[in-house]
Amino acid sequence: MSHGDLPALMSLEDARARMLEGLAALPTEVVALGDAAGRVLAEGLTSRNTLPPWDNSAMDGFAVIAANTSAASRESPIGLKVVGEAAAGRVSDAVVTAGNAVRILTGAPLPQGGDAVVPVENTDARPGVADLPREVSIYSAASPGSHIRRAGSDLVAGAPLLAQGTELTPAALAVAAAGGYAELTVHRRPRVALLATGDELVAPGQPLGPAQIPDSNTFGLAAQARELGADVQILGIAHDDLNDVLAHLRQGLAWADVIVASGGVSVGAHDVVKDAFAQIGRIDLWRIAVQPGRPLAFGRARATDGQREVLLFGLPGNPVSSLVTFELFVRPVLRRLAGHEDVIGRDIIRATLEQPVSKAHNRRAFIRVKLTAAQDGHGWRADLAGGQDSHVLSALAAADGLAIIGEEHDSVSAGTEVEVIRIR
Ligand code: AMP
Ligand code: MG
Repeated sequence: MSHGDLPALMSLEDARARMLEGLAALPTEVVALGDAAGRVLAEGLTSRNTLPPWDNSAMDGFAVIAANTSAASRESPIGLKVVGEAAAGRVSDAVVTAGNAVRILTGAPLPQGGDAVVPVENTDARPGVADLPREVSIYSAASPGSHIRRAGSDLVAGAPLLAQGTELTPAALAVAAAGGYAELTVHRRPRVALLATGDELVAPGQPLGPAQIPDSNTFGLAAQARELGADVQILGIAHDDLNDVLAHLRQGLAWADVIVASGGVSVGAHDVVKDAFAQIGRIDLWRIAVQPGRPLAFGRARATDGQREVLLFGLPGNPVSSLVTFELFVRPVLRRLAGHEDVIGRDIIRATLEQPVSKAHNRRAFIRVKLTAAQDGHGWRADLAGGQDSHVLSALAAADGLAIIGEEHDSVSAGTEVEVIRIR
C-alpha cells in the first residue's frame, strides 16, 4: 500500500463483530399497546384469555340440531320453528330442541342444544331483517360443527402467547390485546444523534452559495434510524473545524446511545472527525473493505453522565456511502440495541444481473439495483438503478436492492447470478 500510515482494510464481518462486541439490548420500559408498534418484547407472554371464550357462530344464520336437517334440500326444505335469537354481546336463554331453531348472528355464543349453524343464505330467511321470523325453511343439510368456531381454537388461557424477542408487528399487537394485555414490557428505543460535517453544507431549501450544496445525508439517515424505531436528534451541521465538531459531538453525548456523523472521516486535510472521536473517546476501527463506504470510523465514548457507553459512527460523506454504510453497519447495531435477535433483518435473494459492472478489487461492492420478477415467473432480475458512483443519490433512491459482488472480482458480466439484499 502506498500510504504507509493507513491501516489495512477490515472485512465487513470483522467490522460488524467489533461494533456488536459486548452490545446488549437497551433497558426495558412498560408502554401502552398503542405505543408499542415496532418494539421488541422483552418478556414472554402467556395468554390471559381463552378465545373464543365459548363455541360461537362463524355466520349469520340459524343454530340447529344437525341431524334434524339431514334430509333438507332446496327442492324439499325442512321447516323449523324459530324460538329465539342469539346475538353477539348478549346472553341468550334460547334452547335448540328437535324441530326448533334459534336465529344466530356472527360471534354469538352457540345456544344450548344446537350443534350446527345453517347460514342464512341456505334458508328462506331474508338477511338483514330485524324481525324474528316465526319459521324458517332450511335448504341444505348441516353437519355437526359446521360454521361453529370452537372455544379455544385461537388462544388458550395460560398457554404461550408471544415469545420474548418478538417484534411487535400489527398482528402481534392485536394478539397481545386479544390475550388480555393493555401494556407491554419492551426495550427502550435507541437514541440516535446525527451530525453533518462540511463547510460546503447548508440546510435543504436554503439558496445555495457559489460553493455550497444541501445537507442531504442528515435527512436520509434520520429516516433510516426512525424506520428502525429509533428516536432521532439532529445536531446540525458542523464546520470542518475540530472544535466545532467537538462542540456538536458533546451535545450528542448528553443524550444519545449512538452518534452518527457523516463526512470529514477520510484522509483530506480538513477531515477532523476521527480526531474529534479520539478526543471524546476512542476509535475502534477505521477503513472497511466495502464499496461504497471505505473510510468508515467507529468508536466508543462515555456519555456525559458517565452512565452509558455511546457508540460513535463516522460515516463517509458521499451520500450513497453514508446511507449504504448505515444499512450495513448502523442498522445491525440499532437492531441489537432495540432487542432484535436477528440483527440484519433483511431478505437476501438471488437475482440475475442484467448489466455488467466493474468495481474495486479487494472490496465487497454493494451495487444499487432495481429488482423485477423474471418474465418466466422464476427468480429475479436485477437492473442497475443508475450510476454507481457514490455521489449518485438518485440511483440509490431508485434502488430496492444492493447486489453483492465479492472482494475477488474486478468486474462481473451481464447474466451473472448474484445475491441481493432487499432494502425495501
Ligand atoms: P467528505 O467525506 O467530507 O470528504 O465528503 C465527501 C463528499 O460528500 C463531498 O463531496 C461532500 O460535499 C459530500 N457530503 C458530505 N457530507 C454531506 C451531506 N451531509 N450531505 C450531502 N453531501 C455531503
Ligand atoms: Mg467534508
